[in-house]
Amino acid sequence: MKLFDLTGRVALVTGGNGGIGLGMAKGLAAAGAAVMIAGRNTAKNAGAVRALTELGAKASSVEIDLTREADCRRMAAETVERLGGLHILVNNAGTNIRKRPEEFSLAEWHTVIDTNLTSAFLASQAAFPGMVRAGFGKIINIGSMMSIFGGVAYAAYGASKGGMVQFTKSLAVSWARQNIQVNAVLPGWIDTEMARRARREIAGLQERVLERTPAGRWGAPDDFAGIAVFLASSASDFITGTAIPVDGGYSTLG
Ligand code: NDP
Repeated sequence: MKLFDLTGRVALVTGGNGGIGLGMAKGLAAAGAAVMIAGRNTAKNAGAVRALTELGAKASSVEIDLTREADCRRMAAETVERLGGLHILVNNAGTNIRKRPEEFSLAEWHTVIDTNLTSAFLASQAAFPGMVRAGFGKIINIGSMMSIFGGVAYAAYGASKGGMVQFTKSLAVSWARQNIQVNAVLPGWIDTEMARRARREIAGLQERVLERTPAGRWGAPDDFAGIAVFLASSASDFITGTAIPVDGGYSTLG
């Protein structure tokens, strides 16, 4: 359907080499977008590019560390140079250090905030001129249930993800007249590398998530293909500044 067609559009997906990011990248690729994958791990980057190419998409990857300002800017520049533009930016990469707040060092705080939130600011800023030149742009920021709720080991992570929603709103308002729509997606519990680590660290998590999630299952990376295409396509041209849960009802249950 034309409304969801991404032919001729170029997407940059941070952390697109696995998990939710790859789920979104596959959706964008299947809808016709060319996709740049940005991640630290070379082998994972190459695997993601292979998966996207198999879907018939033009794809490339760039090795970056999002805690470095220069890398955040470089990945945007390389996307434009190699794929001919940058119309869709997915700020997805994220990390967590699971510790109580009183045990957190300042360096650990910065690692979480810089990876999850500051990188989104820098990447959005780097993508802005190209989107203005193109006459449109779409930015999709990945939040979390921790954008809404609190948790004992989530002070930095929660601050970054709550910040992501407020960042989304201000960016949406600031760039609306430039025809750039900015929205956040809030995943529930999704079966990825990050969640598998959480399951190892938190006893009983597997069962608690199943019990607490109205849909009765963990989410899968493929559950994010649809929302990525919707928020990247002209189907969502009058939608900006929102935070959409993709959580099987987790945030709705009282
Ligand atoms: P993964 O661990 O599978 O993905 C995390 C991604 O972030 C990886 O691709 C990783 O790349 C990348 N990344 C991390 N740190 C850096 C860095 N410094 N520089 C560049 N890339 C980096 O986890 P998910 O897919 O689950 O996470 C994706 C997003 O979804 C995150 O923002 C996370 O907070 C959010 N989320 C996940 C939930 C879940 O239940 N899984 C729930 C709510 C939100 P590399 O391996 O190359 O380092």
